[in-house]
Amino acid sequence: MKDYITVIGGGLAGTEAAYQIAKNKIKVKLYEMKPNKYTPAHTNKNLAEIVCSNSFKSNLHTNACGLLKEELRSLDSLLIKIADETAVPAGQALAVDRELFSKKVTEEIEKNPYIEIINKEVGDEISLEDLSKDGIVIIATGPLTSEKLSKEIINLTGENNLAFYDAAAPIVTKDSINFDIAFLGNRYEQEKQKEESIEAWKERLKQQEASYINLPMNQEEYEAFVKELISAEVVTLHDFEKREIFEGCMPIEIMAKRGIDTLRYGPLKPVGFDDPRYGKRPYAVVQLRQDDCNGTIYNIVGFQTNLKFGEQKRVFSLIPGLENAEFVKYGVMHRNTYINSTKLLDETYNFKENKNIYFAGQITGVEGYVESISSGLVSAINAVKMYEAIKKETTEEKIVFSKKRETMEEKVVFSEYTMIGALAKYISTPNDKFQPMNANFGILPELGEKIKDKKLKYQKLADRAEEYLKGEK
Ligand SMILES: Cc1cc2nc3c(=O)[nH]c(=O)nc-3n(C[C@H](O)[C@H](O)[C@H](O)COP(=O)(O)OP(=O)(O)OC[C@H]3O[C@@H](n4cnc5c(N)ncnc54)[C@H](O)[C@@H]3O)c2cc1C
Repeated sequence: MKDYITVIGGGLAGTEAAYQIAKNKIKVKLYEMKPNKYTPAHTNKNLAEIVCSNSFKSNLHTNACGLLKEELRSLDSLLIKIADETAVPAGQALAVDRELFSKKVTEEIEKNPYIEIINKEVGDEISLEDLSKDGIVIIATGPLTSEKLSKEIINLTGENNLAFYDAAAPIVTKDSINFDIAFLGNRYEQEKQKEESIEAWKERLKQQEASYINLPMNQEEYEAFVKELISAEVVTLHDFEKREIFEGCMPIEIMAKRGIDTLRYGPLKPVGFDDPRYGKRPYAVVQLRQDDCNGTIYNIVGFQTNLKFGEQKRVFSLIPGLENAEFVKYGVMHRNTYINSTKLLDETYNFKENKNIYFAGQITGVEGYVESISSGLVSAINAVKMYEAIKKETTEEKIVFSKKRETMEEKVVFSEYTMIGALAKYISTPNDKFQPMNANFGILPELGEKIKDKKLKYQKLADRAEEYLKGEK
């Protein structure tokens, strides 16, 4: 067995992971392809490069990313500590001096006696297969993982389990949908049958097991919505993010520009539904599909978009029933390499098929700087446990190092009531429509009580998370 743990990728997840491992006096070999080779978004030779916005989002306890940062602080995250030290004024948000942040992380990693940095591209100068033979590896190569390593990852996980593009629709909380307008029902099953009385139909609807929430629109509402949609502001994509638009995955605003009725014959098709308020087919219907196993968050079907986030809130809130919608995630369409973690990983970011391998960072389908740091920390804590368990057993000559270990004592699974644990659970729970996810209150299990005041609700969810993390619950 190798007497060190390998971490591939010296970004946000990889450096956090390396630090967490080294803290346990275990040697780390950290492979980073820079400065020999750069992804299309990286330009700086330092580790933990911040490729875009310098914001780590809100610091508030009542903000999901704020809560995640609090949890990471309490677990001694190196990167959040350095982010705090290199903060620039940004109100309630934690924004960093990006150059100083990366420089400080690099210095900390370089001076750590347990960490050796190796500037090589894995998949080219050395293979993942070699690294994971008789040794533990954490793959943290990010949303722009190099092509050669991507090929090796496909060999490992299977062709259909690595995505290179993220085309995600916005997600809203179920609680924030107006059910005076919205109705539950599946296409054709929900429709009133000719021979059915209104009463019998309504009774049938109550009994029906519906997968979708439907938002009916009349002609005036539909046309007003389309008008705003086609004139809304879109984000400017980097050259490497542009790609051909496929019919099945077209931004909703582009589809709407093809003609006033295009959406009514596409994702907003009203066929197979009757509005329970009037017993008649609506002019158009927006459908929402359950997004998590708790049934607390729903994605808007077919609404993948390049609209700016503020514009998504403004325009999509025009849809009747979404006027007060709480968006826990906005739609995006960008280059993003990520594995189908819902099938491949457990809540410790461990690859189920080969227990030597962990994944961390954006490649696991967590989204964002802080979320990537969080997964780096969880995977590393568990890689250490795995390393120690194997070492102990090997020393005692009980078992030979095995790729397919089924059990490990002391696996560290964070409670799903904490933001760290909820993220890990979200990405490792079966979901055939998996899309990357950021920290948000919608992925935490609901409170036992219904609280209308959003701030109070978040306060309670955050307090509960804190208690669970401290082990007080
Ligand atoms: C253009 C763009 C803009 C973004 N903007 C934001 C934003 O504003 N806010 C936000 O929260 N998130 C943003 N993200 C997401 C962001 O990338 C992640 O949140 C975060 O950087 C992911 O951390 P990571 O450690 O998984 O990957 P990274 O930080 O990207 O680190 C991966 C590292 O692996 C290295 N690497 C890749 N392949 C290999 C290989 N084969 N061998 C060795 N090393 C390799 C890379 O050089 C890199 O240093 C953006 C992403 C992109 C692509």
